[in-house]
Formats: sequence, C-alpha cells, structure tokens
Amino acid sequence: MRTIGLLGGMSWESTAEYYRIINETVRERLGGTHSARLMLHSVDFHEIEQFQHNDQWELATEAMIVGARSVVAGGAECLVICTNTMHRMADDVQEAIDIPLLHIADGTAAAVIAADVHRPGLLGTRFTMEHDFYRGRLEQLHGLDVVVPDDDDRTTIHDVIYEELIFGVTTEASKAAYLEVIGRLNDAGADGVIAGCTEIELLVTAEDLEIAYFPTTRLHAEAAVDWALS
Ligand code: GLU
Repeated sequence: MRTIGLLGGMSWESTAEYYRIINETVRERLGGTHSARLMLHSVDFHEIEQFQHNDQWELATEAMIVGARSVVAGGAECLVICTNTMHRMADDVQEAIDIPLLHIADGTAAAVIAADVHRPGLLGTRFTMEHDFYRGRLEQLHGLDVVVPDDDDRTTIHDVIYEELIFGVTTEASKAAYLEVIGRLNDAGADGVIAGCTEIELLVTAEDLEIAYFPTTRLHAEAAVDWALS
C-alpha cells in the first residue's frame, strides 16, 4: 500500500470525511485491521478563505505549495487536495512537487462518464462555478457539457457553503434551496449533478435526488485508495 498525502482543512469538516472514507474503503478492500497509510497537512482555513475573497490567488498558491511540500517531506507518494476550489492552482502545485497530484475533477469525470451522463450540472463555490479551471477541465479534457446555475442561484449555493457548511451547519431550508437549484438545472437539460464542493454532500445526498449525483469528496477519496492499492 502506498502513502496518500492529504492537503486539507478547507474546510476541516470535509477533510474529516476524506479521512473516514479513505480508511473505511481500505478496510473494505483489505479486510481485518487494515487502515490507510497517509500524511495530512491541514491549514488554517481563515487565511485561505481571506486570500480567495480578496482575490489574492498568488498568496493562496504559495500556501498550497507549502502544504504540498510538507506532505512530500512526510513521505506521501501522491497528493490529494481536499477541496475543489483550490484546484485552481493545481498545475502550479504539481510543478512544485515530484509526486503525482490526483486531480479531483478527473475522478469525478470518470464517474460521470461511467454513468452515461453527458450534461452534468455543476454546484460549488463561485470560484468553481465561474472560473475556467474546473469547468474547462471537464469540458476540454473529458468532453462533458457542463451546466452552471444562473447568477442568483450561484449566490445561494456559494453563500450556504461559506456561511453554513464549512461550520458543519446543515439546515432543512438550505437543503430545500439546493434541491430547487438542482431542479432548475435539470429543467435546463442537466442529466446529473456534480457536488463540486467537498462540503455539499454533507447537505444533499443521492437519496434526495431523482437524477444521478456525483459527490466529489467520496469520488476523490475512493480514487486515492484505488491509486494507493494499485
Ligand atoms: N471545500 C470547498 C470546495 O470543495 C470550498 C472551500 C474552499 O474554498 O476550499 O471547493
């Protein structure tokens, strides 16, 4: 088994899910008392979230590179950045380290394609829904046709992430609001939904939906285990 490197804390609510899912999956696959070999570097999210909202992406990139180098120094053999948004600087981080970065959009796209979904809706932070690093990768590298919510709905999705989900708060009202946005994506032709923020699956699960659902924390964590055991 190879050692997985986690760069997390963005937020720790979802990094805790990565830790749980990775260990549960290793136990399911290897049995007995097996658990994952991993290194975790967890940041102070306050600093990162300030960089994001103040448009200081170079400082955010530097922080990601510091974290990535620390998991490499600790013996990690691959890097898993435990957030969709911070894949904005995935190429710069990959250039700074000599272990493979397992990109969150790649495992997600593989699951979308395997489910025969071609026009997934994308939910996430404003950065993920609006900047090209994520949607562009799904479209150009994986041939998907991505649908994003309209501006008002993007505001709803983004605000619930930063005002509730990163604090571990899930409410029925926010869940209902998310389901309404997903309904509108479906009306606009989406044949599946990507939970493209690692906290969204704490609020909405596949059982809540009638269309295919792609929870990126679970898919990314399982892809890391596939890699570690391959
Ligand atoms: N965890 C979130 C994501 O997957 C948002 C927090 C962050 O900005 O990193 O995008």
